[in-house]
Amino acid sequence: MSKSLRVAIVGAGPAGIYAGNILHNQYPDVSIDLFDSLPAPYGLIRYGVAPDHPRIKGIVNSLHEMLGEGTIRFFGNVTFGRDLNLEDIREHYHAVIFATGAIKDAELDIPGVDLDGSFGAADFVSWFDGHPDVPRTWPLNAEQVAVLGNGNVALDVARMLAKHADDLLSTDIPENVYQGLKASPVTDVHVFGRRGPAQIKFTPIELRELGEINDVDIVVYEEDFPDGWFDEDAEGVTNQQKVMARVINSWREQPLTGASRRLHLHFWHKPAEIIGDAGKVAGMKFERTQLAEGGNVVGTGTMVNYPLQAVYRAIGYFGSALPEVPFDDKYGVIRNVAGRVVDEAGTDVAGVYATGWIKRGPVGLIGHTKSDALETVTNLVADVELLEDPAKPGQDQILETLAERGVEFTTWAGWLKLNQHEMDLGAAFTGVERERVKVVDREEQVSISNRD
Ligand code: NAP
Repeated sequence: MSKSLRVAIVGAGPAGIYAGNILHNQYPDVSIDLFDSLPAPYGLIRYGVAPDHPRIKGIVNSLHEMLGEGTIRFFGNVTFGRDLNLEDIREHYHAVIFATGAIKDAELDIPGVDLDGSFGAADFVSWFDGHPDVPRTWPLNAEQVAVLGNGNVALDVARMLAKHADDLLSTDIPENVYQGLKASPVTDVHVFGRRGPAQIKFTPIELRELGEINDVDIVVYEEDFPDGWFDEDAEGVTNQQKVMARVINSWREQPLTGASRRLHLHFWHKPAEIIGDAGKVAGMKFERTQLAEGGNVVGTGTMVNYPLQAVYRAIGYFGSALPEVPFDDKYGVIRNVAGRVVDEAGTDVAGVYATGWIKRGPVGLIGHTKSDALETVTNLVADVELLEDPAKPGQDQILETLAERGVEFTTWAGWLKLNQHEMDLGAAFTGVERERVKVVDREEQVSISNRD
């Protein structure tokens, strides 16, 4: 290996951390700076995974180890495009990897989508996960709620809406979220899929756990299960699909227990219109669908209405463009070929790479970002000799640049302080064992991280 590399990674979620770790393993003579616009690391795990999913949140432990090794420097509270631009990055680094994920909601183009009470799932997830940049209060005043979509985000949203707040107390939910959920009058959460029960995009563990929620009955509707709706022996049927079909069938046979809340699973419902009254959500109209060639669906022309006071759209995430970085508006990703960023003409943008959801779109589980990072990093390492030397390669020079601009950045040492502080808050809680209580406010996070 012929030269010492300086690489910046933008985005300290799993995609960015895996990329840094793999890069260090593949090319040990590298110094890596990892930037995030948030004061704390871990991106989607801290701000996207539902609080009652400690198994997934547990991935933090291995990411923590990777950052704790000291081979990657963390700089939080630094926003690309505001505190640092592409020119600054080129001045200080040989290359940059963007791993900024996808945090916006995909758009749903139906009448009524802008009514009061129509929410994007991504915004709600950010709220219940204590993201510092969303409002602290959430209008949880609906008794009947719709969740649109048949992916795992729809299940997260439906579960969080249906669960009793006290059953979430042992998680890391912030106090404002607990209080908000505690006051919710919800009785019925309706999850709507536009295709059938055999075309769901859930995963088995996430589906099964719906049936384990305290004081919540699962309701399914016989008309949604045409004869032969699931053929275990059909070509291409996976074990996951078989397990999920069995779980759903068990709910068809299960009598209701009289729980105080219900979670309804509806299939073959294509969103047609959110119905309003005085500017607020009052219901929703769907067109019933049926299966067509290739697993897609067509409308049957039969319309059905439901009275509802809130609608959550969980129909997928969408990436956000970054200043000066080529972006594909149709798919919501940075333009790239196998992680190498390219311009509209398909020409490589030297030294610029992408990984994770902003590279391939918002699909796949956290583990998938590892193989994704491997591809990007392998290509970066193959390009090493082509990468231009930066004018300011010193490790301290980036600190000087940030200081000159008055950027109040956080560091790994700062995160250790904030992490301890959150765990102390959890330990101080009486009545329920809590591992941590999240600090939400950005300024407070920065000040705890940067105190002596
Ligand atoms: P997803 O898995 O792609 O599901 C999106 C859902 O929205 C699909 O059911 C899709 O239906 C539906 N949809 C899309 N456009 C629609 C429209 N116009 N009208 C009605 N329905 C529409 O996306 P996601 O739920 O956002 O999840 C993203 C990724 O994160 C997935 O890989 C997911 O597994 C992962 N994740 C995992 C967990 C976990 O706990 N393990 C939690 C959250 C997220 P069609 O299938 O018909 O297109």
